[in-house]
Amino acid sequence: MTNLTVPTGLRGPAGLTEKSALAEPRQCHNFIGGTFDMGKKAARPVVSPWNGAVIGHVVLSDAGDVARAVQKASAAFPDWRQTPVKERAQHLFKFRNLVLQQIDRLAGVTALESGKTAAEAAAGIMKGLEVTEFALSLQNLDDGGLMEVSRGVTCEVRREPLGVVAGIAPFNFPAMVPMWMYPIALALGNCFILKPSEKVPLTSSLFAELIGTAGFPPGVFSLVNGEREAAQALVDHPDVKAIGFVGSTPAARAVYARATSLGKRALCLGGAKNYLLVTPDADPDLTARGVVDSFTGCAGQRCMAASLMIAVGDVDHIIKKIVDVARSVRLGETMGAIIDKAALERIRTAVRRASQDGARVILDGTEAQAPEGGTGGNWVAPSIIDHASPTMACSCDEIFGPVLTIVRVKTVAEAMKLEQANPFGNATSVFTSSGAVARYVATHATNGMIGVNIGVPVPREPFSFGGTKESKFGHGDITGRSSLDFWSQLKKVTMKWQSQSDSSWMS
Ligand code: NAD
Repeated sequence: MTNLTVPTGLRGPAGLTEKSALAEPRQCHNFIGGTFDMGKKAARPVVSPWNGAVIGHVVLSDAGDVARAVQKASAAFPDWRQTPVKERAQHLFKFRNLVLQQIDRLAGVTALESGKTAAEAAAGIMKGLEVTEFALSLQNLDDGGLMEVSRGVTCEVRREPLGVVAGIAPFNFPAMVPMWMYPIALALGNCFILKPSEKVPLTSSLFAELIGTAGFPPGVFSLVNGEREAAQALVDHPDVKAIGFVGSTPAARAVYARATSLGKRALCLGGAKNYLLVTPDADPDLTARGVVDSFTGCAGQRCMAASLMIAVGDVDHIIKKIVDVARSVRLGETMGAIIDKAALERIRTAVRRASQDGARVILDGTEAQAPEGGTGGNWVAPSIIDHASPTMACSCDEIFGPVLTIVRVKTVAEAMKLEQANPFGNATSVFTSSGAVARYVATHATNGMIGVNIGVPVPREPFSFGGTKESKFGHGDITGRSSLDFWSQLKKVTMKWQSQSDSSWMS
């Protein structure tokens, strides 16, 4: 429904307009102890990538704010951990329903602050809800175990929460990435503190409101806004037992090193350079669509976006189709905007440099016109760089924009050598009609998430999300079954109720 009272700057261009429902700029305060803490001025402007409009302000928290959030969370923990999992799940269930009821409004605001299209924003929320639904199912899945291990002696395993835990999130999935973490952590009985990206605080602010409405006891979920200072204060606070982090590789590495040096659990997901292999027998239409959707979806700002295509043998006919499909992307409709001016400049520089390094820019979208209503926003169209060498910057760096680099090799084995040398480890996909090639790639790939004829091989729940190498620091994955061990600990209880047991060593 179009809200005609909304100033143009708060709506974004056509397509987004109908779904955005931000009536005025939002002040993003911390959510501590079950209420928004209005004591601190929201100082940092939040700027929409669509048109440069200031759509809100966000509080920049310091160690004192973090300490207050941790204190309220610690106070809430004893009751929350004793709350039966079925009761905890009911709060999550209400929260899930509230999100579904308001998905258009939520997606509109997410899109407006992150630059995504409304459809992409809604898809991110739905993926977050899928993780929430997995968390809801823990009440039926994770029933521990009990066995009579000796005559009259039982051993029982209980999964227990850690206490106060925290999640630090990036800008590119304002709803989904936080939802990778807090539903599961909360369902397991932890109290959770979220530090969203300072670039996209509005979405988390709306979600915190819904968490309050869903009836979670005060302090069980908290929101602490801010930049690196707030994140580091969470990592350093002695009562925060585990840190989930998602962001760039340098920050992930730093947070992991800091948290583990303090004896904490940390699972830190970093950046990526995702590879797509294309063989001559691949279906040209399926491949062109899959490759373009992968590198232009979310304007290339996702950690699973295709970034480097390895053309195996003669695939010129497919590259031609890829260029045609990429040309048909419509800015502001099928592709959104870039998060900020610095990122825009990074993307333009990367494409310029590729050309200076000797690669061929066969599609240059770096000087694209803003769509209607997008003046003042951050816009580039898709770019494709062909005949790059594997060592050029465009083949190695995470550009995080709608740019595809193509490296040409002769054999699948040669392609897999490049894949194995990639320091990042999120996604590898192969487009082929050969089952043997698909199996070869799946077997020899070193990245964590592998696709066959799929450009964005994100596993669905309960399969877990997580890469390898420099895309992830820590053990296990951040969603799915694999995440349960991260957000909980096992207690083993051995009991003897009979005076005699045959096993003398079980004293
Ligand atoms: P970023 O690293 O700049 O920031 C991420 C979060 O960390 C923010 O909340 C920020 O305030 C905080 N932060 C930044 N530096 C920090 C530091 N030194 N110590 C503690 N906290 C710090 O990342 P971004 O630009 O917001 O997000 C884009 C990056 O995230 C890309 O590299 C992308 O690949 C990556 N990402 C990875 C995944 C994944 O699953 N592997 C998912 C989404 C995004």
